Amino acid sequence: MGEVYTGSCLCGSVTFEADGLSDIWYCHCKQCQKLTGLYISAAGVEKDKLTISGTVNWLPISGKSQSGRCADCGSYMFWDMHGSPSMSVLTGCVDDTSGLTVRGHIYVEEKPSHYEITDGLPQYKGYPEEGTRST
Ligand SMILES: [Zn+2]
Ligand SMILES: [Zn+2]
Repeated sequence: MGEVYTGSCLCGSVTFEADGLSDIWYCHCKQCQKLTGLYISAAGVEKDKLTISGTVNWLPISGKSQSGRCADCGSYMFWDMHGSPSMSVLTGCVDDTSGLTVRGHIYVEEKPSHYEITDGLPQYKGYPEEGTRST
């Protein structure tokens, strides 16, 4: 049980309520670059603690995961790994991120060269549990 966070897409057709959000990760992988234009900022929520209202289009990203987008405006709101008890909420859609902490950067090995990470937060080559911390 954590704090309840609310959020919405750009047009407001899709809203959600998350009972607790994990720390935020910035993901620099190629997949996130293609999906959003740069990197994503996402926080995790247990699926049974996420309530979504409105029509979400779930689109396959790969055999392993799907993205959830507002059916009206296309805002990229959720990233769902099949079989996982939790999913990621893109923090740009969260109304108020007060109280959330950014843990660091993942998949920095796939980061393009046109920007640098200079915030001093931990950086990981891949996913933290499996990856090697690069700095
Ligand atoms: Zn929308
Ligand atoms: Zn990514």
